[in-house]
Amino acid sequence: MPSILNADLHCHSVVSDGTLTPEALAARAKANGVELWALTDHDEIGGQQRAAAAASAMGMHYLTGVEISVTFVAQTVHIVGLGFDPENPALKLGLNQTRGGRGQRAMDMSDGLAKAGIAGAYEGALKFAGNHELISRTHFARFLVESGVCRDTYEVFRKYLTEGKPGFVEHRWASLKDAVTWIREAGGVAVIAHPARYKFTSNEEFALFSEFKSHGGQGVEVITGSHTAAEYITYADTAREFGLAASRGSDFHSPDESHTELGTLPYLPGKLTPVWELLADRIRHASVESPGASAPTGH
Ligand code: AMP
Ligand code: MN
Ligand code: MN
Ligand code: MN
Repeated sequence: MPSILNADLHCHSVVSDGTLTPEALAARAKANGVELWALTDHDEIGGQQRAAAAASAMGMHYLTGVEISVTFVAQTVHIVGLGFDPENPALKLGLNQTRGGRGQRAMDMSDGLAKAGIAGAYEGALKFAGNHELISRTHFARFLVESGVCRDTYEVFRKYLTEGKPGFVEHRWASLKDAVTWIREAGGVAVIAHPARYKFTSNEEFALFSEFKSHGGQGVEVITGSHTAAEYITYADTAREFGLAASRGSDFHSPDESHTELGTLPYLPGKLTPVWELLADRIRHASVESPGASAPTGH
């Protein structure tokens, strides 16, 4: 696989907090010229088989994917896993435990919102959750938009669902060490997702990258829908500094909500090792190679 590749290795389906099925996402990725794809639902790999089968039928190469919620220095950090064996028992158990606290957290969020005058948020959010084990803030956001409390999900997060706001509940996710170890031991590559999104001091960020590396982490998202052009350059430098491979992914959730479309980000900058170079033997090659497969659009 070449360095210049329309790879999209981060997006969400109805199995977590996206609004499209794995099959619809595959079709959308394909239509946008994606050549190597990964579905990375939050804390959940229940969509992997469907995604891999759809990719194969459409002539797209596929890597297994997941985005694990981690607590590091009292903040939530996301670690993307790519190219792991989805049948690995320790990974499956770890993800199961990570999902475990979401139900109680959602009820506590609902209590907080009720105190702010918004009733029935738990039931409202649950209606939007395709997978009840994976009830997330995004589902609450959709309910608050539907009920006319806010104009869009961004406004909901700003006013209700982020630290200090009525629907925010502190939660302890997996440890960085556990998440990286689950991915590694299942044969995958661990990647720090959207590093510019975290509100760490530079010392804390240095600790995140150092500890991630020491646990066996190998990659960082450089080109993602949550980075600005300046942040692409910053994290390309960070990748080189820490000797990490670089990843690229839109973090697409929904045609109505996401600002970044599947497969339309800039290519990885030069002088970086693409994560797919580390995963050459884990890529599931497409069974059909259709004629348009290597003509990316939207750049
Ligand atoms: P949870 O895992 O339940 O904490 O939900 C996290 C998800 O909420 C993320 O994966 C995003 O999809 C979404 N999200 C987080 N912060 C924001 C934000 N500021 N604006 C819009 N969506 C957000
Ligand atoms: Mn999400
Ligand atoms: Mn994320
Ligand atoms: Mn994501």
